Amino acid sequence: MMNSADYDLIIAGGGPAGLTAGLYAARGMLKTLLIERMILGGQAASTFLVENYPGFPEGIPGPELSQAMEKQAKNFGLIIESGEVSALRPVGNLWEIEATGRKILAKAAIVASGVESNKLGVPGEEELKGRGVSYCATCDGPFFRDQEIGVIGGGDSAVDEALYLTRFAKKVYIIHRRNALRAEKILQDRAFKNPKIEILWDTVVTKVYGKDGVDGLEIKNAKTQGIRDLKVSGAFFYVGWSPLTGFLKGMVDLDSAGYVLTDENMATSAKGIFAAGDVRQKILRQVATAVGDGAIAAFSAEKYIESLT
Ligand code: NAP
Repeated sequence: MMNSADYDLIIAGGGPAGLTAGLYAARGMLKTLLIERMILGGQAASTFLVENYPGFPEGIPGPELSQAMEKQAKNFGLIIESGEVSALRPVGNLWEIEATGRKILAKAAIVASGVESNKLGVPGEEELKGRGVSYCATCDGPFFRDQEIGVIGGGDSAVDEALYLTRFAKKVYIIHRRNALRAEKILQDRAFKNPKIEILWDTVVTKVYGKDGVDGLEIKNAKTQGIRDLKVSGAFFYVGWSPLTGFLKGMVDLDSAGYVLTDENMATSAKGIFAAGDVRQKILRQVATAVGDGAIAAFSAEKYIESLT
């Protein structure tokens, strides 16, 4: 007996890529389920102000943008459930998606599971997580009013979040392992001009210490190897991201870092599985590129589903 699909399309992940795919698919009359493990909006939802998404000349708070995307997709009938997709396997010409113990059959799937923040892996980081060690300035920044804090990393995230943290903190150290920031020039300029920010160049964190919370960091000069103590009460780590693709292993081709390989139509190596957003191997990970991916993935999935009948 042929299996029948519960849904035309399942989308794993509810960031800007997944929500856009959901909007396009639902508007295209596909019975579509989106599954999100945490909060809708992905990383953008915990961004204080999204400044480079077109249409908002003054920028738009990340949570506001995410909620608007969610509402718009739901208006067209997108079904959203909370859960974590843990497996994806072919069943005939359908795909079975396992999410939080449930097994759901769909004609096609879009993987928009995004990325998660990397851990630096130094002593004290894990032990003091949530007690001074953080990976989200928007979530935890207000706890550090009038205090001194360290931000580790030199990319857009580190510099953007360091700037945001100056709203609360007395002083913010950006601790970067090289002598040049990776962040875009406009953010660098703002950081250089901000009197509350001091950049510690060629410096790595070797330890986070503290009893009930963070009392300080042990830092090392990468050139001289000199070790010193930096008294801070918070440490925000922004040392890159890793793709959430563990559940795809063996099913679709990934690059050596685990990002999903797609063609320009967002098709993966597996027929009926598409990918969109930060989880893809791509050159620029932004809300603007995620929504474009989402729209294309939904369009491609629609064409694929039509080809099944
Ligand atoms: P990223 O660009 O990968 O930067 C990671 C930073 O962490 C780099 O400066 C890197 O140093 C440092 N790092 C990595 N591993 C380290 C280690 N083991 N020890 C010490 N330092 C380490 O990540 P991101 O800043 O989170 O940005 C990710 C993506 O999001 C980018 O595409 C970015 O454009 C986007 N984003 C954009 C905005 C915006 O447009 N305002 C804001 C946030 C994020 P090196 O430089 O030496 O490699």
